[in-house]
Amino acid sequence: MLQSPKSTKVRIVTPADDVAGGKRHRGGDKDKDAQEHSQSGVLEDCAVATEIPWFTLNDIDVGKRLGAGKFGSVYVARERRTGFIFALKVLDKNQLITHRVEHQLRREIEIQSHCRHVNILRLYSFFYDEKRVYLMLEMAPGGELYGLLQSRGTFSEARSAWYFKQMVEAIQYCHTKHIIHRDIKPENILIGLKDTLKIADFGWAVHAPTSRRETFCGTLDYLPPEMVHNKRYHSQVDVWGLGVLLYEFLVGKPPFEDNSEKGTYKKIKTCTPVFPPHVTKEAKDLITRILHKNPLDRLTLEEVLQHPWVHLNTKGENAVRLQKHYGGML
Ligand code: AMP
Repeated sequence: MLQSPKSTKVRIVTPADDVAGGKRHRGGDKDKDAQEHSQSGVLEDCAVATEIPWFTLNDIDVGKRLGAGKFGSVYVARERRTGFIFALKVLDKNQLITHRVEHQLRREIEIQSHCRHVNILRLYSFFYDEKRVYLMLEMAPGGELYGLLQSRGTFSEARSAWYFKQMVEAIQYCHTKHIIHRDIKPENILIGLKDTLKIADFGWAVHAPTSRRETFCGTLDYLPPEMVHNKRYHSQVDVWGLGVLLYEFLVGKPPFEDNSEKGTYKKIKTCTPVFPPHVTKEAKDLITRILHKNPLDRLTLEEVLQHPWVHLNTKGENAVRLQKHYGGML
């Protein structure tokens, strides 16, 4: 993985192109999925140019640590020539190899580096040396949305609607590019400049132009019934994920949470979320229309945005008010 600069076909975007501003576990067979992809040549679909190694550590001043993940740490960094500030994610190659996630990282880089949306964290570039892989990411000074949700317990309906809309639009963009995210959850959302939400983790995403998928993946609490039943699935898995996310915003925990994995599976299969009394009728209606067992019965993302709860909360003057309170872009 990432041995030779010519071996990966990621179009490198320089920072000058742009002025940027306790986890739940996953299931699944990443290796099978990765193999499937490299064999089918899906990775090649994303390739638009040959990689040119633009940066090395010598071009960068590395500052304080912003956080740590499973495979390394994230630091604030500055490109020396331009003064451009970004987040540098440093991944330990040995760790990546030990956990057999090289293909996953490669796919993540391919996908994220091609996304251009205000609610998707930019991956500007990457480079590597003998021991590490370095990802140059858009800086997200607000940290994980998960932290904010934990500190507040729940979000108000207004805040939830505003955040939810940003995430729906980001996923809508992914789907137009035939990318299925497959792992939507608050831990994978960062708070960027101007408090704009950014989907940040594409570790489980796939570029699936035509085929339906069978790989079991994602985070248990967010798994849709078709994945639990090991059935084929399509982009509607992300609609389900958004429904679970909205429930978690409003209630403070995911709808199918249970003390045991078995219990969670059972709840997902029966698919009857219970709503505490403070959730309004309109929000309940939206979530229930999203969390349909049959993926084809779920609302489309367009319909989700047109749903009265989203529409009324976020349209016109309300949008201006919400942006003032909670950040984001109009
Ligand atoms: P990760 O390895 O992606 O789980 O990141 C570990 C931690 O680093 C996160 O929980 C964040 O607090 C922080 N972090 C990751 N990416 C960024 C970023 N782009 N900007 C600011 N902080 C980040």
